Amino acid sequence: MKIWIDGQLVPQDEAKVSVMDHGLLYGDGCFEGIRIYNGRIFKLGSHLRRMWDSAEEIRLQSPYSMEEVERAIRETVSANQLTDGYIRLVFTRGVGTLGLHPFLCPVPTVFVIADTIKLYPQELYESGMQIIVAERRRVPRECLDPQIKSLNYLNNILAKIEAIDAGVLEALMLNMEGWVSECTGDNVFVVKDGAVFTPPPDAGILNGITRQFLIDDLGPSLGLPIQEKLFRLEEVYQADELFLTGTAAEVIGVTRIGDRVIGDGTVGPITRRFVSEFRARVSADAPED
Ligand code: PMP
Repeated sequence: MKIWIDGQLVPQDEAKVSVMDHGLLYGDGCFEGIRIYNGRIFKLGSHLRRMWDSAEEIRLQSPYSMEEVERAIRETVSANQLTDGYIRLVFTRGVGTLGLHPFLCPVPTVFVIADTIKLYPQELYESGMQIIVAERRRVPRECLDPQIKSLNYLNNILAKIEAIDAGVLEALMLNMEGWVSECTGDNVFVVKDGAVFTPPPDAGILNGITRQFLIDDLGPSLGLPIQEKLFRLEEVYQADELFLTGTAAEVIGVTRIGDRVIGDGTVGPITRRFVSEFRARVSADAPED
């Protein structure tokens, strides 16, 4: 596998980051996960814009322009001959001293990995996924805005460990005010009486690119407008259908939360329409904007 790092495509075993890099020492940096479908890079423009927003929020200045990073991504995909797969774009603060001071790191490290991806097993898309509600709350926006896709994912990882301990793959997280926010690596949608809703960004979530694609594009084209609103866990338990979205997961139905069954315990008709329309849209001619 070829990795693009700091301006060069190199074999994987030559792609190295220093132990003095603040991405490693402090989780100081940001990243994106992006999909390749049938030779097209899904929502690359949106991912690059979100990457630049994250970097700006943490006052990290990329040494490469957005166009240069886009070129690096396309070069990495073609060097690895991928027509379907997953891209990881990372900016770290770079090599510095042992102190926190971010501006003593003169040059951010930039790298791009492009590889194949393992999805959740297909039967989960058909029978529905089981998740739990994490005890751990989502970090408040005032402390570290979840809109920043930072290299510091311990809040999510600790909730993910709760899920793994419970024998499931995802955990739903509440914010400090008790509103439903998102899962550890996926956004959440509820269906009730034919209406579809999802928490707004100010619930303290990462505004997922997949989430936004459903709101702007799939929902309207299916005649299923999606409303952003705050809701409590009770509304999730009383939902007819529940589904998650994310770059890796795509769209996947949830049929159980802990020991509670959602709806009739099967992946409902509206979730199925989103799952199949998503697949149809990305496999035909995935939008790259
Ligand atoms: N929330 C979190 C915390 C995430 O890390 C992700 C990305 N894996 C998502 C939501 C989904 O975002 P996207 O659709 O952009 O992958």
